[in-house]
Amino acid sequence: MNDSPLALLGGTPAVSAPGPHFTWPPITEADRQAVARQLESAVSIPDRSGVVADLEDALASYLGVRHVVTTCTGTAALHSMYAAAGIGPADEVLVPALTFHATATPLFHLGAHPVLADINDRGQLDLEDAARRITARTKAVVAVHLWGLPEDMDALISFADDHELMLLEDGSHAHGATWNGRHTGTFGTASAFSLNGPKPLSAGEGGFVATDDTDLYYRVLLHGQYNKRCRREIPATHPLARFAVTGMGLKLRIHPLAAALAHTQLTRLENHLAGRQAVAARMRTALDGVPGIRVPHVPVSARPSWYALPLRYEPAELGGLPIERFLEALHAEGATEADVPGSTCPLHTHPLFQTPGALLPGYADGQRQPADTFPASDHVHAATLKLPVWHHENDVDLADAYTTAITKVATHAKDLL
Ligand SMILES: *Cc1c(COP(=O)(O)O)cnc(C)c1O
Repeated sequence: MNDSPLALLGGTPAVSAPGPHFTWPPITEADRQAVARQLESAVSIPDRSGVVADLEDALASYLGVRHVVTTCTGTAALHSMYAAAGIGPADEVLVPALTFHATATPLFHLGAHPVLADINDRGQLDLEDAARRITARTKAVVAVHLWGLPEDMDALISFADDHELMLLEDGSHAHGATWNGRHTGTFGTASAFSLNGPKPLSAGEGGFVATDDTDLYYRVLLHGQYNKRCRREIPATHPLARFAVTGMGLKLRIHPLAAALAHTQLTRLENHLAGRQAVAARMRTALDGVPGIRVPHVPVSARPSWYALPLRYEPAELGGLPIERFLEALHAEGATEADVPGSTCPLHTHPLFQTPGALLPGYADGQRQPADTFPASDHVHAATLKLPVWHHENDVDLADAYTTAITKVATHAKDLL
């Protein structure tokens, strides 16, 4: 196979299966029935009952937390988490500079400031850089388990303790990932997850907040659930109970049909993760030592969710071949779902983070430190190639074809120079 010329130059493609090669979530008869049943029982649920209660109970028990509140999106879950954590005007929250923007954007709607910190070469928060950015107003630090690879939670917990910061988590890539056997999303005071379409656990659209802190849970309810949920779940004797009817005035409920899908998907999550783990191990083995390609390091403490397989591209080993050209050749080989990260990119490159005041009047003074640079975030982002990680044994051939395609392009790179 590798003796064939590159498909881009007229050879036979390494991947012959027609696309699409990866679709998510996998929909089964059980999903169809669950959603159809839900359609007959309730399409609007104003309290914690029915499928909403079932999903929240199942998530809480799966993660091992006391409270879970579902939301309409992961962005809404992050918003509720920050609001409930008491983050407010002029507060600062440390956020990795390389993440999906919604890790940070809800802070703008609380009058708070996301303070970007650079990452290290492994794509994790650079704690030295983060420490330099702490001020008297810094309230919290957010762990993002990018692509489902858990952050070093031992290091983050000591960092948060040393600097007296609240530790929060965005688990949107990392449902079911673990660090030292404990689920990501259970290390911080609270965590927020997306249940959006491609995420490891999918409702189509949805999200949730998880916490052991009962007061914080009441505030999550007050932020986006209001009236019945608040009246039924916040004890009448609690000082916040008098706000139950309006809450903080937002409505961020999950749709029951989405909850039904997530609920049946959750019963298969461990299966999906075990499948992904096996395929990811196979792909990493196949790609280990391929020139120009570095497979991610996985610490022994970590069980990733493998939301994607992020590869580091090292053009210097391939005569300086630009990543765009490498990807073009890869697509010509039929590996059409190999990709470079799109919207998950260094946040300081977004106009919203450069001049938030142009859209949000409270930020008219602009960015705090306009001269900030985030070289590692820029570099890691520009040098990441990402592959889907399949979970089903029927897809092993496809995974092999993708790694063969990468090996082929890497070993023929000189033909493209
Ligand atoms: C998807 C995602 C979000 C936002 O979730 P939505 O459900 O799309 O609102 C937030 N953070 C990260 C890291 C994400 O990947």
